[in-house]
Amino acid sequence: MSLRSFLERMEAKKEVLHVEDEVSTRFEVPFIIKKFDKEASILLFEEVKNYKTKVVANVCGNRKRICAALDIGHDELYRRLMEAWRSPKKPKIVGDGAVKEVAEKPDLSKIPVLTHFERDAGPYITSAVIYAKSVEGNVENVSIHRLQVLDKKRLAIRLVPRHLFKLWQMAKEAGEDLDMSISIGVHPAVMLAASSPVPFGVNEFEVANALLNDNLNLIECKHVDAYAPADAELVLEGRISATKEVVEGPFVDITGTYDIERKQPVVEVMGVMHREDYVYQALLPSGAEHRLLMGLPHEVLIWEAVSKVVPKVYAVNLSVGGSGWLHAIISIEKQLDGDGKNALLAAFAAHPSLKHAAVVDSDIDVYNVSDVEWAVATRFQASKDLIVIENARGSTLDSSADQETGLTAKMGVDATRPLTKPREKFERAKIPASERAETLVRKLLGL
Ligand code: MN
Repeated sequence: MSLRSFLERMEAKKEVLHVEDEVSTRFEVPFIIKKFDKEASILLFEEVKNYKTKVVANVCGNRKRICAALDIGHDELYRRLMEAWRSPKKPKIVGDGAVKEVAEKPDLSKIPVLTHFERDAGPYITSAVIYAKSVEGNVENVSIHRLQVLDKKRLAIRLVPRHLFKLWQMAKEAGEDLDMSISIGVHPAVMLAASSPVPFGVNEFEVANALLNDNLNLIECKHVDAYAPADAELVLEGRISATKEVVEGPFVDITGTYDIERKQPVVEVMGVMHREDYVYQALLPSGAEHRLLMGLPHEVLIWEAVSKVVPKVYAVNLSVGGSGWLHAIISIEKQLDGDGKNALLAAFAAHPSLKHAAVVDSDIDVYNVSDVEWAVATRFQASKDLIVIENARGSTLDSSADQETGLTAKMGVDATRPLTKPREKFERAKIPASERAETLVRKLLGL
């Protein structure tokens, strides 16, 4: 249950595109990943200039592949994730693992870390799964953070005020640096678990183990008090400094715009472990994979919350145009007028970064933006069906929000048809099909 075994499965399905020509980590690899954002094939860069290591990208590039990684159909995805959040399972701690094949002194310049965008501060590790535990050891946490490479031994870590930030503050209060492991190149289930919005105190490695049917093994790190997946490609052992901070950024985050620069803590790397022929996993900020990994677990939260206020939720889409983070389209079955607005309120409560949400009826395809626009055009009246909430907490990643405080305005659009008017007024008119017309169309299309 490693990234490697998953890539082998995808190779057999012809989902891996091999890039055999030499490319540079500086802009060239990211440029190519970006061009394949829609196709979402896995890209394997075999000849990376100045490095012996191969780079893989777009592993979780579409929903289909995420479902394949969990061995389920799309209609089971939300339920499967929720199950794993509620019933985490302790992974086994093992003495040895593939990641221990090579152990060496830290030298970050030997790792093919990408420089993604024109004005980024430098190379950034973007697929880092970070494990840390509280000083007393009773709280364990796993989350994904961006890491700016400062020199051969030091990184800057962006700590959004969430769980790892809290652990770091607890360590600081105890006057200690925070030990942590940085795992790069792990099975998609581990990436999904690490992006999951489970409460503080839940160890996301246990969520990953539940998703992997008890097949996740962890090893103990040598230089720090931390665990890491035994079959990861690469693990950096590090400490988040209690005292040393640097200016982190600029860096392009999920919206595709530059996030602001902030003072962030320094990570000192104490040791490196990797497989003999490790593959470095890249993840393009604002790319398809970034949107899905960050967004998908929050679709589950929205689906669950809205399910409590209306009889049925058909689908939730944190859409591409909303960067997989700021816009939700939700299709529901409503019983009474007003259900649409309650659904919107539930969605905003479930995903605090959500900025704009639209609720539609079940005949609207939430993944088809033109279809949603049609619903807004024919079923929505701004004077009655619009909610605006001022000065709510939103995402600091939105350039139009107050990026220091995260204060923002939220807008909800209830584009479900009103029950006060006859249903047929809102139905999409059909053209009766004859066999002759259908055959002719197939012929014209060359099918
Ligand atoms: Mn957590």
